[in-house]
Amino acid sequence: MTIAFVGIGANLASPQAQVLAAFDELASLPRTHLTGRSSLYRSAPVGHLGQPDFVNAVARLDTGLAPQALLQALQAIEKAHGRVRSFRDAPRTLDLDFLLYGDERIAAPELTVPHPRMHERAFVLMPLLEIDPGAHIPGRGAVQALLAACAAQSVERLAA
Ligand code: AMP
Repeated sequence: MTIAFVGIGANLASPQAQVLAAFDELASLPRTHLTGRSSLYRSAPVGHLGQPDFVNAVARLDTGLAPQALLQALQAIEKAHGRVRSFRDAPRTLDLDFLLYGDERIAAPELTVPHPRMHERAFVLMPLLEIDPGAHIPGRGAVQALLAACAAQSVERLAA
């Protein structure tokens, strides 16, 4: 079993409900246990502005799935939530980012792990730190220090 972290984001169609449903679907994946779930956070959109705020969270999994199988499973969940890929950084019903897979570094055509932008996004680092205070990103360093460098980004923890 390998410890993996998944970033969850949604900003359309009842985003809080989408994120909560995603936790349940991650818990139901084969050979996988959901071993951590962060609070929900609200963040301002990155890239394409002029769209609703996002609701974000991070899940911790213990999984026997290989990285590519886990990526395919995440994409199947996104698809089931009716996500349509329109343009980069477009609004989305549900976005699942494959963040970390143990200490592995993966550079395949369809999968880069650690996720290449996670280290600069407070909406990923804050929930990750909540469920794994000692987390570090291979090649990047301690999440706590990386988060300190994102202090200008507005991310708000939502009431449970
Ligand atoms: P996005 O539209 O941002 O969700 O990007 C999805 C695309 O990025 C898919 O074609 C994936 O194969 C690719 N991808 C590469 N690395 C990752 C990763 N760590 N997590 C999710 N998608 C990834």
